[in-house]
Amino acid sequence: MCRSYFDEGDRIGVLLTQAMGDLAGVLDYLAPAGGCHLGAFVEVPLGPRRMLGVVWGAGAGEFDRAKLRAVIRVLDAAPMREGMRAFLTRAGAYTLTPLPAMLRLATRAPGLGAPPGARKIYRRGEGLPDRDTKARRAVLGVLEDYGGLAFTLKELAEMAGVSPSVVKGLAAQGVVREEEAPRDTPYLPLDPARPGKTLTTDQMTAVAHLHTAAGQGYSTTLLRGVTGSGKTEVYLEAVADCLRRGRQALVLLPEIALTQEFLTRVEARFGAKPAEWHSGITQTERRRCWKMVGEGGAQMVVGARSALFLPFRDLGLIVVDEEHDTSYKQGDGVLYNARDMAVLRASLEDAQVVLASATPSLESWANAQAGKYTRIELTSRFGAAVLPEMRAIDMRAESLPSDRWVSPTLQAAVNARLERGEQSLLFINRRGYAPITLCRACGHQIECPQCDARMVEHRFLKRLVCHQCGESRPMPEICPSCEAEGRLAAVGPGVERLTEEAVALFPQARVATLSSDMYGSARALKTQIEEIAGGGADIVIGTQLVAKGHNFPLLTLVGVIDADLGLHGSDLRAAERTFQLVRQVAGRAGRAEKPGLALIQTHQPEHPVIRAIIAGDEERFWQAEAEERRAAGVPPYGRLAGIIISAEEAQPAFDLGAALARNDAALRRVGAQVFGPAPAPIARVRGRHRVRLLVKADKGVALQGALAEWIGQFPVRGGLRLAVDIDPQSF
Ligand code: ADP
Ligand code: ZN
Repeated sequence: MCRSYFDEGDRIGVLLTQAMGDLAGVLDYLAPAGGCHLGAFVEVPLGPRRMLGVVWGAGAGEFDRAKLRAVIRVLDAAPMREGMRAFLTRAGAYTLTPLPAMLRLATRAPGLGAPPGARKIYRRGEGLPDRDTKARRAVLGVLEDYGGLAFTLKELAEMAGVSPSVVKGLAAQGVVREEEAPRDTPYLPLDPARPGKTLTTDQMTAVAHLHTAAGQGYSTTLLRGVTGSGKTEVYLEAVADCLRRGRQALVLLPEIALTQEFLTRVEARFGAKPAEWHSGITQTERRRCWKMVGEGGAQMVVGARSALFLPFRDLGLIVVDEEHDTSYKQGDGVLYNARDMAVLRASLEDAQVVLASATPSLESWANAQAGKYTRIELTSRFGAAVLPEMRAIDMRAESLPSDRWVSPTLQAAVNARLERGEQSLLFINRRGYAPITLCRACGHQIECPQCDARMVEHRFLKRLVCHQCGESRPMPEICPSCEAEGRLAAVGPGVERLTEEAVALFPQARVATLSSDMYGSARALKTQIEEIAGGGADIVIGTQLVAKGHNFPLLTLVGVIDADLGLHGSDLRAAERTFQLVRQVAGRAGRAEKPGLALIQTHQPEHPVIRAIIAGDEERFWQAEAEERRAAGVPPYGRLAGIIISAEEAQPAFDLGAALARNDAALRRVGAQVFGPAPAPIARVRGRHRVRLLVKADKGVALQGALAEWIGQFPVRGGLRLAVDIDPQSF
């Protein structure tokens, strides 16, 4: 029997947000005065520090009771529910992530430790004190030890062993922040009874299907429909359904810039805006969202992938919009794919999942084929809008100087749009001015000193930027290698260079550029998008940012500058990505009454991927892709894990990799194979050398246990780092 309440003095196990040494992260404590619930958020002492934790169960009982310390206080937050604890445990086991790191994902709410009842709270601010004293250092020491948590004046002064005036002095300088204690209020209620749009027959069928599925506990539905077919309208009805049942809904979007348009649509449908959760919200909003989700004061959340770790009180629906989008895969820290985690979370909450996309991932397509997901389709665009006509431009037949990228055929099509007052979009999936900066005198290419990557010229910034680590420096005038003057040349196109070309080719047109790095804030980007949608530009030049769901009603022509980009390389997902991206960008054309045209510039019009793109024959494309992956034994038809070992020097990383590769008994026992070590796809990032091993196994193999045993053979120390990436994005 699992107890759900502990009385004062009971021995309890608390999962901490930080693992100490070899400890698993769950330590024994005594329940505080007044007792505590299973799942309660608590502060506990650990050595001289205080730490955030969650009551995880009864204590293990190995330690001498007399030595146990008591919980300091129970925090003002709803206890973590069983479904959430199970989710963290299962997700941690799947990604081979220790529980404390999983708990950190679930506690990213500033002021979570705000003392109940306080009027003012104190936390670390900015900068350093004007004068360094022992007392001041003590206060900052406490705050630093204690991460994001906040204290009352009295608590902070006591813990630092100083008088409150020291804290006040630091607060006056901004080094410590003094804030009003948050008073979190529920979000305005959403009303699912308000009438929605009148649905088409196709849309009604889809809604009816989702309605039936919602009544049956956990299920996953792949909602596939061409851009503009009304997928959003359909899943908003599933949200309405969920709200009517009194449960909470979560909608994940791949791009923050898209949330604004979406929030407006939700408000139009339900009469109020939902809660938001992504990197663009303030700390206060963040805390409010976290808290209200737990208390039921937020019916619906729109968020980035990390919203999956919010403490929903009763989660009934998760929508993953643009489910194929690669940004759902977390690239740093805990490596998880939000789409897969959404399915796991829902299965533990008896909730429904809707995966929406015009170009689903092969994974989801295969899951639907295998009967694990239901698949429903919206086949036509809403209203008068028709799918754009797709045509390839064979670049081998176009006459074009080597530093120009808009073919005469594409140029003529843009001119025709300009005459009719319609918009054109030119798409290139490359930020900056040019991907290569080459010295014409000595042939030297400028590379990032810390990464195995070229520096990319950004002419608007007059700088060279590394897209791996963000390192940037002023554009040099002489070659750093041979010191020749004025011989550095830009090679290849980027979005900035294409803009330059468009301005020269179409001098009468208003040209706007959309690239994620050109806008300081999400707000500036949103303004720009709205201006374009309202007709504020004749030609839009964009990177993959434009592929994602913006509605530009006046847009009738899409020109894909280089469809071959991304087709090359050894990555088995390259074809899938190119297919999705180009189809998606092309789908931007002709959303309103005017028919659209998509022109795809390519040097290999006969390439099967390009042919599938032009023909729009997705089923055939997927079948061919599926066959290739099946033959190679890779996801979704086999299991794969990437092990990245990094270090300041290449040798120790290789040595550890080689030692692992030699001692692979644990893997062989389950029939798994290891490949490598080899330099990782990007062999150096931020000055660290990276070595990769790939582990391959059959689909049915429970790989994680074997991986853990295998990796556990050798200590990872002395500046080495090892990260496990289950289901890596590139292979
Ligand atoms: P998708 O998500 O598949 O790209 P949307 O849901 O955004 O498609 O629909 C495309 C456009 O058509 C939107 O402007 C939407 O409001 C409109 N639309 C779709 N279905 C309907 C409907 N049944 N009634 C009115 N407008 C609709
Ligand atoms: Zn770099």
